[in-house]
Amino acid sequence: MDFNFDEELTMVRDMSREFAEKELLPRATKFDRQESIDPDVLEKMAELGLFGLTIPEQYGGAGMGNLALAVVLMEINRACASTGVTLSVHNSLLGAPIRHFGSDEQKQEWLPKLASGACIGAYCLTEPNSGSDAAALKTTAVKDGGDYVINGTKVWVTNGGIAGLFVVYARTDPEASKARGISAFLVPSDTPGLSVGKHEPKTGIRGSSTTEIILDNVRLPASSLLGEENRGFQIAMNTLDGGRIGIASQSCGIATACLEAAVKYANEREQFGRTIGNFQAVQWKLSDMSTRIEASKLLTFKAAKLRDDGESCNKEAAQAKLFASTSANYCADECLQIHGGAGYTDDFHVERLFRDARITEIYEGATDIQRIVIARQLLSV
Ligand SMILES: Cc1cc2nc3c(=O)[nH]c(=O)nc-3n(C[C@H](O)[C@H](O)[C@H](O)COP(=O)(O)OP(=O)(O)OC[C@H]3O[C@@H](n4cnc5c(N)ncnc54)[C@H](O)[C@@H]3O)c2cc1C
Repeated sequence: MDFNFDEELTMVRDMSREFAEKELLPRATKFDRQESIDPDVLEKMAELGLFGLTIPEQYGGAGMGNLALAVVLMEINRACASTGVTLSVHNSLLGAPIRHFGSDEQKQEWLPKLASGACIGAYCLTEPNSGSDAAALKTTAVKDGGDYVINGTKVWVTNGGIAGLFVVYARTDPEASKARGISAFLVPSDTPGLSVGKHEPKTGIRGSSTTEIILDNVRLPASSLLGEENRGFQIAMNTLDGGRIGIASQSCGIATACLEAAVKYANEREQFGRTIGNFQAVQWKLSDMSTRIEASKLLTFKAAKLRDDGESCNKEAAQAKLFASTSANYCADECLQIHGGAGYTDDFHVERLFRDARITEIYEGATDIQRIVIARQLLSV
């Protein structure tokens, strides 16, 4: 990767690459099989400051931006996508909305804990009957004196089983049209009435924790409201612009791992008296993989830079996620094909890459939804 990074970014990239190769790569298959990440890995990431990468220095973070996060996530995901999504969600789906929309008190209370990794973050938007149509959510937050009382069930919550703090989206105005009556709340994991439900066994990113979160008469003080009442859906969508840059970065990391594995195998495996890398059909696959990865990275860096500059990146984040995620799946498919039968066994980690790549086209807005976001911007509708 030869982008023109400044000294600080180059240092962060090299540090995260070294960590990923030493601590994650040797254990990624283990995390996949045991369906969890070893806690000492999360502790080491905390020591390196990765949980506080985008949190301002005054709250104990590194004060870096989305570009730095993208660079780090590409390195982490190249080694282990389960660890990658854990870090991405923490930084972009919880740290970011508190930074952008939190009160001074909320920032002071939560950002230092998030920065140190003492508290992992999670994002609760999706419900059993509201996925792509997120504004149809049914969880309610009803005012009771000075408090809010929340009831509902959230599904597919990344980091659900390990989080110390959740941002929960709930309906505060049942009379308002779908998106207008939703608010965001900061809910600590030890709040009475909040429980972790079913752990989802998944096709890929199996090491990452994905659970139901059940909210049964969860009583919160008014100070838990994040941003303005009934403006929560805007917070959810703004947050997802950053989150999609994270998933685009994840896609780049997985795709890079696929290319590296495919090149290595093409140089080793012999058929018809020569290594398979000599066959043009294999060379063309490698060329297309490499070109798609470079383009994915550029789109991702462009969206990250726009967000760092405070510009709208709604279309660009969707474009980065759309292109990078479909490219990751293309690369994973071609990588497996280049490995032939060996790629279809768990002797090689390419079958894990193939499974891990699949989710990038589904979460934080499925591929079809990215196309809708892009078209809406083009058509101004
Ligand atoms: C592993 C994992 C982790 C996740 N983590 C989180 C998390 O941390 N927090 C959270 O809140 N959510 C999370 N999600 C939820 C995720 O964001 C949703 O799964 C995703 O938005 C799609 O929703 P759905 O699964 O209900 O699919 P549906 O919305 O039911 O979509 C099914 C299919 O229909 C298509 N479709 C739907 N609407 C349209 C349309 N208008 N036009 C064209 N096609 C359409 C979709 O593209 C998709 O192919 C996670 C999901 C998974 C699988």
